[in-house]
Amino acid sequence: MFASLSPTLHPTMLSLAFALALLLSLGLKFWLSSRQVRHVMQHRGAVPAAFAATVPLAAHQKAADYTVARSRFGLLNLAFDSALLLAWTLLGGLDLLNSWVHAATAERFGPMVYQLSLLVAFTLVGSLLDLPWELYNTFRIEQRFGFNRMTLKLYVADALKGALVGALIGLPIAALILWLMGTAGSMWWLWAWGSWMGFNLLILVLYPTVIAPLFNKFTPLPDETLKARVEGLMQRCGFASQGLFVMDGSRRSAHGNAYFTGFGPAKRVVFFDTLLQRLNGSEVEAVLAHELGHFKHRHVLKRMLTMFALSLAGFALLGWLGTQAGFYIAFNVQPNMAAPNDALALLLFMLVVPVFSFFFTPLGSRMSRRDEFQADAYACTHASGAELSSALLKLHEDNAGTLTPDPVYAAFYYSHPPASERLAAIARQPSSPAAPVALQGAAS
Ligand SMILES: [Zn+2]
Repeated sequence: MFASLSPTLHPTMLSLAFALALLLSLGLKFWLSSRQVRHVMQHRGAVPAAFAATVPLAAHQKAADYTVARSRFGLLNLAFDSALLLAWTLLGGLDLLNSWVHAATAERFGPMVYQLSLLVAFTLVGSLLDLPWELYNTFRIEQRFGFNRMTLKLYVADALKGALVGALIGLPIAALILWLMGTAGSMWWLWAWGSWMGFNLLILVLYPTVIAPLFNKFTPLPDETLKARVEGLMQRCGFASQGLFVMDGSRRSAHGNAYFTGFGPAKRVVFFDTLLQRLNGSEVEAVLAHELGHFKHRHVLKRMLTMFALSLAGFALLGWLGTQAGFYIAFNVQPNMAAPNDALALLLFMLVVPVFSFFFTPLGSRMSRRDEFQADAYACTHASGAELSSALLKLHEDNAGTLTPDPVYAAFYYSHPPASERLAAIARQPSSPAAPVALQGAAS
């Protein structure tokens, strides 16, 4: 209740810090994007010397145009999102939504229904406002560059299915966390964190086996030669998997990918059909060796532990902020007098924290790029480095990734090293084609 909120946090200071961080992050994002556009356009005319023999000029220019189109669209979207964020917070949008939802639900249905309704209403408004941007991205930009394979019908079916699955999964965990916030005392955040972690582990098991099959078809890898190859690689690397699957990624997009998913009994390897169409057997093997490298170097575990630690810090911070009257007042939200403020605190937290955490993006990107180099090195010792290079180059071309990103932009955002750096590092590896001789001739 409002009366029990602490006055320690100064609301004006917090509003000012938020406004300043938002302004700074906006400036930084605009500066980085315009650097990227300028750099890519300057190098549009010619394929970089290192790739002159392998990448056609048309592909290079398509990549440049795609990068520029996405950057410009990203800037427009950023301007809109920032205005929306201001509208939700300093301009009182969340307060307005809260007073409507509160009036409609609190007395009649009780505090839990009121709080869940507020979360649902916020999510609905946010998704509706985001919809035109999503549509434009899929049916204009991705379409123009030949990547979109989705029909409007499939898009709508996906959206409805996604909303249903989101509600089925999201509402129970939201209700549990709100209940803990309301009943577990001042250390509620520790309990909530534990539940949130348990929930994440559950999703990790359910995603590959239950959720993903709702959206895509997974069929066992039919190609026996490739299967033998991949299983040989996994054996050499000491992996057991519950199966190799092909996913019909081509239903939605031409972008290709492969991933290794799940843990324990739910572990499986998934290849996009678009990837298999494009790469030959040795290249697929090299790409998978890279993915196995992430597991062998414990990157997956490391990322999970980092996520656990960050969410513990997040819940602890929310545990404190939620008790501060200044937290609500700073963002123009009137805390409820006779109803819990937990859903409000959650929403404000999710709106405000990314503005501050954005400044740590380069740290995460840098760690991720280091992991990618390590996984590449692992792939070079367990499969062929030359095949990995040629696979990466093909995927890069198919995804219209630019070969000439702005170095500052790449350092800030890129989770994968720029292709030139990656291929140079692979070329320096003492690569040994470790595939058994019998299988080497079987490459298609
Ligand atoms: Zn990787």
